[in-house]
Amino acid sequence: MDFEAINRQISLVESCIDHTIPVQPNEKLYVGVDLGTAYIVVVVLNNEKQPVACAMEFSQVIKDGLVVDYIGATRIVRKLVNELNQRLGRELTHTAIAVPPGTGSKDCKTHSYVVESAGLEVTAVLDEPTAANGVLGLQNGVIVDIGGGTTGLSVLDKGQVVYVADEPTGGTHLTLVLAGNYGISFSEGEELKKQNDRHDEILPIVRPVIQKMATIVNSHIHGRQISNIHLVGGTCCLTGMEKIMEKEIGIPVYKPANPFLVTPLGIALNC
Ligand code: ATP
Repeated sequence: MDFEAINRQISLVESCIDHTIPVQPNEKLYVGVDLGTAYIVVVVLNNEKQPVACAMEFSQVIKDGLVVDYIGATRIVRKLVNELNQRLGRELTHTAIAVPPGTGSKDCKTHSYVVESAGLEVTAVLDEPTAANGVLGLQNGVIVDIGGGTTGLSVLDKGQVVYVADEPTGGTHLTLVLAGNYGISFSEGEELKKQNDRHDEILPIVRPVIQKMATIVNSHIHGRQISNIHLVGGTCCLTGMEKIMEKEIGIPVYKPANPFLVTPLGIALNC
């Protein structure tokens, strides 16, 4: 796996949050909408599948992969799409979306309706770790996607997804532990957690939750021949969590420089 190329691609998405890259009037665009528990992210790629724009908003309209506030979710997606339309001088028309592994067909439809209500036609519905593999290109191993609400995983064998799972426990649970520990509100805990220079301080406090995440992964890969684990999802931005996971699971654990944007980019690549 070419980690340098992957990190370069993700840092391009990162830079597109503030800097829009111009596109031609008739150029084909690829769009990915990630409806997450903590963030809704929209990534746009040009006809060469290079990132040109990205917009996101913190939201609590999805819970563990289920849309709990349909109107709110539609409003945020519409706002992000309008913002991107203006920035690009183009109207986005199609998108791929992703849902946590194992999401039922009715819930998948609800995700599609949210995005369609915001004016985009849904071309593909993927599961999140599979979308992430659009970026990683893993042939054999496990992709673990730890977002705001859940820990999801995909086992790959010769490039094919052979097993998926998704269980509650994600970044929200880390934030709740921090809020309780420091006597601060949830949103203050959320801000604290995202200060990378305080990760050394907070890692020991949230270690038991990370160990729980490792237990989830362990229970699903038990009895399989697994040689590597790759972490994606915003929660894996936590510095040093890969070492805790590796110690608990006993298999080499890798993560890209910015695991947060891997899945949104992978969704767009599958548009
Ligand atoms: P899910 O996949 O569970 O539906 P989601 O798609 O919203 O949720 P992501 O966007 O992958 O999940 O990640 C969001 C989580 O990542 C939040 O809990 C957020 O606090 C956390 N997060 C984002 N940046 C950082 C950071 N720098 N350090 C630690 N955690 C972070």
